[in-house]
This record gives sequence, C-alpha cells and structure tokens, in this order.
Amino acid sequence: MAKIKFPPTTSIYVIKPFDPWRSRLCTCPEKYSFSPYTGCGHGCLYCYITSYIPNAFSPREKKNLYGRLVRELRKIKQESLLSISNSSDPYQPMEKRRRLMRKILPLLKPFRIQIVTKSDLVAEDSDVLRDLNSAVSITVTTLDRSVAKKMEPQAPPPEKRISALKTLSDSDIPVSARIDPVIPYINEDVEELVDQLSEAGVRHITSSTYKMRWDSLKRIREEFPEEGEKLKELYLRGERTGNTYYLEREIRIRILKNIRDMALKHGMSFACCREGLNLNTGVCDGSHLIGVKK
Ligand code: SF4
Repeated sequence: MAKIKFPPTTSIYVIKPFDPWRSRLCTCPEKYSFSPYTGCGHGCLYCYITSYIPNAFSPREKKNLYGRLVRELRKIKQESLLSISNSSDPYQPMEKRRRLMRKILPLLKPFRIQIVTKSDLVAEDSDVLRDLNSAVSITVTTLDRSVAKKMEPQAPPPEKRISALKTLSDSDIPVSARIDPVIPYINEDVEELVDQLSEAGVRHITSSTYKMRWDSLKRIREEFPEEGEKLKELYLRGERTGNTYYLEREIRIRILKNIRDMALKHGMSFACCREGLNLNTGVCDGSHLIGVKK
C-alpha cells in the first residue's frame, strides 16, 4: 500500500494510517482510518477514546474537512482500504443534522470502504454506498433495550440497528456486526442476538471482550453498581498491559469461542479483535466482505 508521508505529528491530517504503532495484538489488514468528527456523542460507558481524545464526549466537526479530504485522498493509492471510523462514530447524533457522510462518500469511489458505526442512520446512505466498493459493520452489543440505553446512552436502540443491517443487506451492501465489547455479568448472553443478526443478513461477526480501564469502569459502576464491583475483582485477577486490564485468557477463550460457534452455526465468519487468540475464520474487521455481492 502506498503510504502518505506523515510528519512526526499526524494531527494535521484527517486521514491517518490505522494502528501506526503496529500493536502485536492488531490483526487488521493495512488500512487508513478517517472520521469526519473528533470525539463522539454516543457516550458509551466502555469507550476507550477518552484515553487519547480530549473532551471525547463533546464531539466537534473537523475543520475544513472537505478540502483536506480531497487533497489527502490524492496521495493514496486507488483501492486502498479506508476505515470510517475506528474512533468517533461517523454516524453519531450530530450527523443527523450535518450529513457530512453523504457529501463525502462520493469522493471515495476509487477506494475500498469499510464503515463502522453504531447507528441506523448509515442505512439512509445505502443509495450512495451501493455504488461504492463498500461494506458496513454495525455494532450491536445486546438485544436488551434498557441495558443498551445504559451502556450506549445516545446510540439508537438495538432493534433499529438490526433493521438497518437488514436494509443494507437487502440493498446488496455486505454487512457485518460487532458484538463488541462483551462485558461479563452485563451482556454475555448473545445467543438470540446472533440469531437475529443472521436473519438480518449479517455475514461476519467481530467480537471482543471488554478491556478495563479505570475511567470506563467508573462509568460502568455508576450505571451497574453491583456488576461493576464484580467486574473490578474479575479484571484484577486477569492480565494487565499498561493501563488496560484483560480478563484471564481462559475466560476470554470461553466467551469468544462460544460466540464463534454460534456464528459458524449460521454460516457466518468470525473474528475477535485485539485478543491474541487464534479463533478467527475471517479478516478481523470484516473487510473481506467488501465487493462480495450476494
Ligand atoms: S460509538 Fe464508539 S467512539 Fe462513540 S462513544 Fe461509543 S465506543 Fe466511543
């Protein structure tokens, strides 16, 4: 993949190489990452962008976005993979008013596009997405409306997300789903969810377990006090990488293998994200679906 020549600080660019640190846990293919927004209004309890984006839950539109994007896209080789977005949801609440994606998407025709969102709003762009080399991934962590409302307070309810997956799939846009993160005691029971995702036309599932950081645990404990207390004990028995705590490896294998078995039973591929486990039957981000028509 042709690389943009990035100066020491990349903050002036809207398109960035994904995972510039080349984490050993990341199994994604080489790709670029882009979001029209800095920060995200979905306000998910488990969100990790708070660790590197100031005022992460006060989203703002990127300045001079369109012009910068046009200039930067000229430097990228055609057919490169562009992921929108790996942090700061492109279809977050502000997008209802701003509709930046609708304006931007036609610029992306020469590339392979992976949309990652938690909103059904993406389905309103299916007419544009259909003409692109694209795939869409929607995160659905639970079917329980009240749990979803607490975990992802400003994101659309699960049934709307599933209905959007169906609309996209019916429009011949390949779709995957992220059951991500799975948090013990809170959203571990996903059997019915996997059934419904399959019925909606989902062809791939990406899943991972919650990685505990102190700020996200604090938010979880405010909404789920009992479960939050148990989570703390459980994670302190697990593995630690920097400021991030993982569940014990055996627990992660049990949870993810269970979801993998459900996905395979429905003929879907499966992958986990940043787990260091050898469970994948598809590309972890679902980008292998791009361009694969029914
Ligand atoms: S949608 Fe993603 S980026 Fe936005 S708050 Fe939720 S986890 Fe964070």
